[in-house]
Amino acid sequence: MANYDVIVIGSGPGGYVAAIRCAQLGLKTACVEGRETLGGTCLNVGCIPSKALLHASHQLHEAQENFPKMGLKGKAPSVDWKQMLAYKDDVIGQNTKGIEFLFKKNKIDWLKGWGSIPEAGKVKVGDDVHEAKNIIIATGSQSSSLPGVEVDEKIVVTSTGALELPKVPKKMVVIGAGVIGLELGSVYSRLGSEVTVVEYLDHVTPGMDGEVQKQFQRLLKKQGLDFILNAAVQSVETLKTKAKVHYKLRKDDSEHTLDADVVLVATGRKPFTDGLGLDALKLKTSDRGQIVIDEHWQTNIEGVYAIGDAVAGPMLAHKAEDEGMAVAETIAGKHGHVNYDVIPGVIYTHPEVAAVGKTEEQLKEDGRAYKVGKFSFMGNGRAKANFAGEGFVKILADKETDRILGAHIIGPMAGDLIHEVCVAMEFGAAAEDLAMTCHAHPTYSEAVREAALACGDGPIHS
Ligand code: FAD
Repeated sequence: MANYDVIVIGSGPGGYVAAIRCAQLGLKTACVEGRETLGGTCLNVGCIPSKALLHASHQLHEAQENFPKMGLKGKAPSVDWKQMLAYKDDVIGQNTKGIEFLFKKNKIDWLKGWGSIPEAGKVKVGDDVHEAKNIIIATGSQSSSLPGVEVDEKIVVTSTGALELPKVPKKMVVIGAGVIGLELGSVYSRLGSEVTVVEYLDHVTPGMDGEVQKQFQRLLKKQGLDFILNAAVQSVETLKTKAKVHYKLRKDDSEHTLDADVVLVATGRKPFTDGLGLDALKLKTSDRGQIVIDEHWQTNIEGVYAIGDAVAGPMLAHKAEDEGMAVAETIAGKHGHVNYDVIPGVIYTHPEVAAVGKTEEQLKEDGRAYKVGKFSFMGNGRAKANFAGEGFVKILADKETDRILGAHIIGPMAGDLIHEVCVAMEFGAAAEDLAMTCHAHPTYSEAVREAALACGDGPIHS
C-alpha cells in the first residue's frame, strides 16, 4: 500500500498520457493496468496492430497491381500469414515496451492487476488498497454486438479476434460499414478473402461527409469489397467451421442469407467500466454507460476524473490522449484544454480518408451560409505519379468571413494532410490564409492549397 497524488486506472492512450503528464508536473503517480502489457486497446488490439496489417497488405497490393506498371518485374510476393502476424506482434511489443520504458523514466509505478474504487481517495488492486488524492478513470471501451449475434472469437469475431485469425478466410462477412469494419475488411480483401459488408444504413461510414462516403464506397467496391446496404442482420448461425448470416432488406423486409468462414462484428464499441464499483460509489453514468463528467473531466465525485472512451465523445486514441494531458494539467492546478471542434478522424485504408470540423450536411442543418473549395488529386502531379489520383480535398469555409469550418479528404496520405487544416482551424484561419501559403512542389499538400484556392478565385490545376 502506498500514497499517491494521482492513480490512473487503465493504461491506454488516455491513461498512460495522463500518467506521464502528471509525473512530468511533479505529481507522485501510479497507473493500474490489468492487461499483461501497457498501452490499452490502442497498442494491443486496436490502432497499432490494425495499422501493421493495413501496411503489410497494402505492400502486397502495390506489388501485385503497381510494380509491373513501373517496370518492376518478377513474381509478386505470396502471403505467409504466420509471419505477417509475427510482424504485427513485434510491432505491438515494441510499442507496449516503449510505454513501460516511459513509465520507468518518469518514475510512474505500474500497479499490476484490475483496479476498483472502494471509496473516493482509494484504489484497490488485488488485496492492496492504495490512497490517492486524485483518481483518473481511463478504462476505455469494449466491442459491442447485436442481439442474435453471439461472438466466439473464432468464427464470429470482434476486431480483437480478427487481428489473430488462424488463417486468411475464404469468405468474410463484415457486419457494420464503420471505420473498424472497413479497415479490417480491406485488409482481408487485399489478402484474398471475398469480403461482403452488411450495413444497416444506406451509406458507409456514418457521420462522414456525404460526397466522401460515396467516393469511398465506390473505390472500395472497385478494390473488390461487396456491399449490402439498408440491411438489418437478424442473426448469425454458427456451424462447425462456418457461419450463416441472416439479414432482412429494409426496403421490402425480404429475408436473405450469406455464407461465411468468418463473420466480423464491427457494430461499435461501448464504455468498459466493469468491476470498478461505480454503483456502490454512486458515480453517475449516462444511459449509454458513459461516465458523466463536467468541463474539467471531473465526475460527480470530487477528486475522481474520467477520460477517453469511457466518457462521451469520439472514441479515438488522440481524443483520449488530449483529455489525458488536459486532466493532468487541471489536477496540477493549470488550465487543461481540449478543442473538441478540431478533432480529426482518419480511416487508414488506401486511399485514406480524413475529416475535421463540420460536414456539408451539418452546415446545411445549422443553416450556415458556406462555400465549398474542392480539388481532385487527378490535378496533383505527385499523386498521378504514385497511382493515387483517385480522390479529392474538400474545404468548407464560411461564406462571409472565409473562416475554415471543415475539411474532408479522400486520397493519398489524407491522415497526414488533414493536420495542415487542423492547425489552420486552431488559429481561426481563413481559406485564403491556406491559399496564400507557399506549398512545396511536388507534394500531396499542394492539393490542400488548391482546394483552399477553390474557395476563392479558383484553383490553378483544374
Ligand atoms: P483503452 O485504450 O481502451 O485502454 C483502457 C485500458 O484500461 C485497457 O488496457 C484495459 O485493460 C484497462 N482497464 C480497464 N479496466 C481496468 C481496471 N478496472 N483495472 C485496470 N485496468 C483496467 N483510434 C484512433 O484514434 N485511431 C485508430 O487508428 C484506431 N484504430 C482502432 C482499431 C481498432 C481495431 C480498435 C478496436 C480501436 C481503434 N481505435 C483507433 C480506437 C482507440 O483504440 C481507442 O479510442 C483508444 O484506445 C481509447 O483509449 P482509452 O485510453 O480511453 O482506453
